[in-house]
Amino acid sequence: MSTLRRLEPGSRHDLRVGLSPDAPEEDRLKDEEGAFGYCHSYETSSRYDGPGLRAVLFMSGCLLRCTYCHNPDTWHLKDGTYVSLQQVLHRLGSFAPALASVDGGLTISGGEPMVQHAFTRRILNGAKEMGLHTAIQTSGFLGDRADDKFLSNLDLVLLDVKSGDPETYRKATGRDLAPTFRFAERLAAMNKPVWVRFTLVPGLTDDPTNVEKIAKFVAPMKNVEWVEVQPFHQMGSFKWKAMGLEYKEADTEPPSLDLVNRVIGQFRDAGCNAR
Ligand code: SF4
Repeated sequence: MSTLRRLEPGSRHDLRVGLSPDAPEEDRLKDEEGAFGYCHSYETSSRYDGPGLRAVLFMSGCLLRCTYCHNPDTWHLKDGTYVSLQQVLHRLGSFAPALASVDGGLTISGGEPMVQHAFTRRILNGAKEMGLHTAIQTSGFLGDRADDKFLSNLDLVLLDVKSGDPETYRKATGRDLAPTFRFAERLAAMNKPVWVRFTLVPGLTDDPTNVEKIAKFVAPMKNVEWVEVQPFHQMGSFKWKAMGLEYKEADTEPPSLDLVNRVIGQFRDAGCNAR
C-alpha cells in the first residue's frame, strides 16, 4: 500500500522517481473509486496548455513509450506521489478564484490522464464545481475509457495525434494508432472542442505523407479549433540519462523554422486552423 504524501509544487521539468515503490503497474491499476491517485507534479500558471492561464496537473502512468518523450518519469505509477482527491481539490481550491478571474482553468496532463480515469474524472468534476474551465491532454489511446460521465466534466480535449501513418505511430510510441482516431471521431460526433497537437520530430514524424494523413483526417472535423505543431526539443533528455533508459532521439536536432513552417502550411492547405 502506497503512503499518502504532500504533492510538492514544481514543474513538468522536475525529475521525480521512486516516490511510491509499492504502486501497482500502470496497466494493472483498478481505479474505480478515484478517491486516491498518483501524480508527478503541478504548475499553477501555464499559458501553453489550453486557453488563458492554466493550472496543470501532471498525472503519473502512461502506456505509450514515445521515443521523444520529455517526461519518462511520468510513465510509472511507482514514480509518482500518492495523494488523495481531497488533497488535490483543496490545493486547487486555493488558487481557483484567481484562475477563474482571468478566464483560466485546469488542464490535466501526464503521463496519460486516462490511466487513472476515475481519479481524473473526479478532479475534473471538482474543478467544474469551482467554476473552472477544464481540459485534459491525452494521446487518446485509452479513449474508450472516457464514458459520457467523464466527458461531461470536460470543456476541451488537447489530443496528441503523434502520427497519421500507423507504422510511424507504432515506431514512435510502441502502440496502435486506431484508438486515437476512434476517440477523435467520437469527439467530433459529439462536437466536443478539441485542439490537436502534433509533435514534429525530424526523421521520425516529419514525412510529408505522414503529416498529410493527419491533416486530411482532422480537416473535416468542425470541433477541432486548432492544430498546434509542437517542435521536438531536448529538454527532457537528462531524464532518460538519469533513469538509465536508452534514448533513441539523443542525436535528433529540433526542427528548423523552415520545416515547422512547411508542416504548418500542410495543415493550413488542408483547411485546418494551424499554428
Ligand atoms: S504519451 Fe506523453 S507521457 Fe506517454 S510516452 Fe508519449 S510523450 Fe511520454
